[in-house]
Amino acid sequence: MKKLFSSLNKTYMIIYAFCLLCYQETFARAGGGGGHSSGGGHSSGGGYGGGGYSGGGGDSGIIIIIIIIVFVVVISLKKNKKLPGNGNAYSENNLSESSTELPEGLTNEKIGAAFLSIQEAWQNKDLKKVRKWISDGVYQRFNAQFEMMNKLSQVNKLSNINIDGISIVSTNNDGNYQTADAAVSFTMDDEFISDKYPSFNQKYRGESAMEYWTFIKRHDAQTGKNLYDNNNCPNCGAPFEISMGEISRCGGCGTLTNNASYDWVLSEITQEDDYNEGSSFSKKEDLQELTKNDDLFSIQRIEDVASNIFMQIMEVMSGQPEKILTRFSDEETMNQILKDKKESGDFVFDRLYLNCVDLYDFYTDETKLNLNFYLRASYQRVQAGQKLKLIDEEMITQTYEMVLSKNSKALQTAEKETVFSYECAKCGAPYSDTTNDVCEYCRAPLIDFNRNWVLTYFKMVG
Ligand SMILES: [Zn+2]
Ligand SMILES: [Zn+2]
Repeated sequence: MKKLFSSLNKTYMIIYAFCLLCYQETFARAGGGGGHSSGGGHSSGGGYGGGGYSGGGGDSGIIIIIIIIVFVVVISLKKNKKLPGNGNAYSENNLSESSTELPEGLTNEKIGAAFLSIQEAWQNKDLKKVRKWISDGVYQRFNAQFEMMNKLSQVNKLSNINIDGISIVSTNNDGNYQTADAAVSFTMDDEFISDKYPSFNQKYRGESAMEYWTFIKRHDAQTGKNLYDNNNCPNCGAPFEISMGEISRCGGCGTLTNNASYDWVLSEITQEDDYNEGSSFSKKEDLQELTKNDDLFSIQRIEDVASNIFMQIMEVMSGQPEKILTRFSDEETMNQILKDKKESGDFVFDRLYLNCVDLYDFYTDETKLNLNFYLRASYQRVQAGQKLKLIDEEMITQTYEMVLSKNSKALQTAEKETVFSYECAKCGAPYSDTTNDVCEYCRAPLIDFNRNWVLTYFKMVG
């Protein structure tokens, strides 16, 4: 018996070592936010996050066998993997197990409902049912992707969606807000289809993956409200019949439904390979001291603003009107972006995923507080014409640096609660298509370091 065990052990070790090689090769690619893979598993560019999938159906027998072995190993690795922020091993099989307690008002039902609704919204390219509980940054990420997919007549059809597990892996205090990261593991069929450019179609079956969903809520939020199980305003109860766009305001009472004072708001979705709990930002307490009088400041929220800005810059780079930039950028930075755009020529994104946004430092000068961000995005560019012409042979992952600045004095009071770059920070009026440098209603300048965060630096860093 002993001998049998030891030889089994050896066989296992060999398979294990072999699979580890496969695993690393597969997932290193997947970590880049997708791309085409050859054997040993898929790293699909599908889905809103562009994260890697493991497992699934292949075309040849050998590939299937390798995939199954890799899948088993991945599962066993995951079981032993300690997730950040908790001391327990994560079990795939136990839906109700929550290694960190669910915070007040957040339930597995809400997270599950949010997950399924987002998949539906994604494949229908329609955010009206989810708008009231997603952050502006999440809205912008999806909306920009829809615009790009529409340019190429693409849809991403999802089916057989199954949630395998939900668990809270981390909760944090963040200014007047609290955040909660939920790990959601799932399987689904995923099909990228374009009638116009069928050569780019992709199809995967039974894909399994994990994502981290970050929710945010104010400490002083009301209790007992639920944004997820009805289609009514959380403040006045009016039903939402007209879909909300960039601005998630109730037409009846004017409240911003996603201001995190009613319920948990979905603020970020991070693919497994991009997730790192506890960023490299070591000066959190110093920053909180500087911003303590701004009731609406939190790191999660300012990262949301950064992601919002990033997606709008990428829209401009791929052909949207340049004047979008005048709503959040100082002149010098805007000119630099337009110079970069000119150099890179005309293109459309076939895929574009913002993998992560991290506030990593800040500095003060004579008048301003300046926040430094790193952003990482994966994309593939094409030229659309009679036929699609590839600019990038495969998915490219790039890092960007961004600085947002505001007058230090302005931090002594909370800013007016408006939708960044879509509403006037002084009077709250929405910007129209014809709005230029000043608000049409109160004539306040759109770029104002005394009222708003302003983009003062943006550069690809490699
Ligand atoms: Zn209302
Ligand atoms: Zn105004």
